[in-house]
Amino acid sequence: MSELHINKNPQETPHQDVPITELIKDLLYYREITETVREPFIILNKYLYVVTANKAFYSKFKVRKKDTKGKHLYELGSGQWDVPELRNLLEHILPSRHGVLTNYEVTLNFPDLGRKTMLLNARQIDSKQLILMAIEDISSAKMLQLNTDTLTANLIRQRDQLQQLNDAKDEFISLASHQLRTPATAVKQYIDMLRLGYAGKVTDDQKQMLGIAYTNNERQLEIIEDLLRIAKVDAGKLILHKSSYDMVKQVKVVIKELVILFKNRGQKIVFNKPAKPVLVYGDENLIQMVLENILDNASKYSQQGATITISIKQNDLLTSISIKDDGVGIRQSDIHNLFKKFIRIDNSMSNVVKGTGLGLYWAQRVLYLHGGSIDVSSKINKGSTFIINIPLGKVV
Ligand code: ADP
Repeated sequence: MSELHINKNPQETPHQDVPITELIKDLLYYREITETVREPFIILNKYLYVVTANKAFYSKFKVRKKDTKGKHLYELGSGQWDVPELRNLLEHILPSRHGVLTNYEVTLNFPDLGRKTMLLNARQIDSKQLILMAIEDISSAKMLQLNTDTLTANLIRQRDQLQQLNDAKDEFISLASHQLRTPATAVKQYIDMLRLGYAGKVTDDQKQMLGIAYTNNERQLEIIEDLLRIAKVDAGKLILHKSSYDMVKQVKVVIKELVILFKNRGQKIVFNKPAKPVLVYGDENLIQMVLENILDNASKYSQQGATITISIKQNDLLTSISIKDDGVGIRQSDIHNLFKKFIRIDNSMSNVVKGTGLGLYWAQRVLYLHGGSIDVSSKINKGSTFIINIPLGKVV
């Protein structure tokens, strides 16, 4: 009981209007509660003199009981509680809010603890004779929030910078490819004219050299076209022109186009042709290029004499075209890189066959634009199966 000292000095508590014995009884009750709570609490009388505080308060603010109890709040420590912000809260806002303060944030400077941000919850109790104030130190949470905010802002800035760099790179590729296409096409025409003898008779040796120049120039143009296609799809400028058409017919067209290639490599192509037309809804030209790409890869990455098998399936949702080869295959660990831009996977044939590492990336993007997908399963040295899935859409 002696610990609960109410300052009876009329000068310090000028308007004591509740019998002191009753207050002490109540205080004992409040103290029981506050001592068990780990958050710092302080009980002030209505003139802001400290009646009591809990253990958490003394240890948190590194103050002694004897320097605290009976003292005016503003005199505590080195006067750190005496700030206009807190005065306003306790003297004006608390009474105006029906004696309740909820989650008010104040930042005070403590000589031993430094700058602390605290959340105050206060309530007038005992017919407004006392104020019970809970103090939660949220400095660490604030600091964490600040760090998180700064980190997030930095990440956003970095992401935007990377995006800008990526856009600039795409734009550069697009511009450079455009600029390269015209002179490369002119070179092709002039080599052809020379080969055909427009500038005089050409010896066999010269013809052979011009042939090599022509092939390489064609390759150059292919790469330029690949780059331009990628730039277009990346810039979101690839517009689909969809229609309903027969996939069986399309596969036949693609096989016919590539038949020379297969023949030259002594490869066999098997088409498990469905008996009836299989209607799909998509951009016929783009899907044809996707098929050419996958079929060309199946041939490129298979040995002489290999067999490539094409099958078509359709269910209520999808049309799936599977292209299976018995070629070099792909390691499981490489599968996730297959559809990345400019990625060529090392295999026993990648030194021999030419490529840019753009075909599968482009094919996947085109299929995604259709709401479709491309799947692959493969076993090294056994072969690969690529499955192109096109949603049924509004096939009519
Ligand atoms: P490119 O053929 O121009 O290198 P692609 O994007 O078409 O580029 O293919 C990426 C890589 O995937 C190829 O470099 C190759 O290693 C691998 N790949 C694609 N198709 C096959 C296949 N049918 N069999 C084995 N590897 C393949």
